[in-house]
Amino acid sequence: MVILVISDIHANLVALEAVLADAGTVDEIWSLGDIVGYGPKPRECLDLVRSLNPTISVVGNHDYAAIGRISLADFNPIARSASQWTATQLDLDHVQYLEGLPLKQTSGDVTIVHGSPRFPIWEYVYNARVAAKNFSAFDSELCFLGHTHVSMYVTEREALDAGEGHHPDASEALAFEPNRYIVNPGSVGQPRDGDPRAAYALYDPSNKRISFRRVTYNVEVTQAQMREVGLPDPLVSRIARGM
Ligand code: ZN
Repeated sequence: MVILVISDIHANLVALEAVLADAGTVDEIWSLGDIVGYGPKPRECLDLVRSLNPTISVVGNHDYAAIGRISLADFNPIARSASQWTATQLDLDHVQYLEGLPLKQTSGDVTIVHGSPRFPIWEYVYNARVAAKNFSAFDSELCFLGHTHVSMYVTEREALDAGEGHHPDASEALAFEPNRYIVNPGSVGQPRDGDPRAAYALYDPSNKRISFRRVTYNVEVTQAQMREVGLPDPLVSRIARGM
């Protein structure tokens, strides 16, 4: 059993296609939100994700922003302008799909949210300190979340002991010990850990193993697509730096 866990695609179709090719055949796909926002191909990414029929698909703050469900006042000017452009690109069926996505889903002994179990849309679980406040907000053994665009995992024991979270290397595998975990697979379309490669995870519930993966994609193609539709320059340059 292999589950492909993807988050923060951010309308980067080239990165999403690279991840799907690199992951190979999988049994399920779980999407942790922010399919759109920042990137040049929101329609195509939504169409592709929907065609993959993900078992889990939760909503992210940029998904809500693109359909007017949250105020753009909380976005910085660059994110706001990208979100306004994204909104002009969506058809009614894209809007309806995003509107129908839940804030939180569970599968077996796993909880899935975009931001955090406490605040699924807004809270960033950047570190073990924030994670420590969230273990009481879900019941399952494992919680997958995204939103920070940085791969991380932390156990409940470490978090409550004021320990650090782990930032896994590419191809690092996490084998579960008896404990509870919060795990972030990183971002497909806009990584922010200084590594521009697309990030994702493969989860095997039968042996409780998570593999953190990175795959190179053609950043220049995405950048050209962004310039073509007039997205702000800082968004174009940051994806080449993984920031
Ligand atoms: Zn995001």
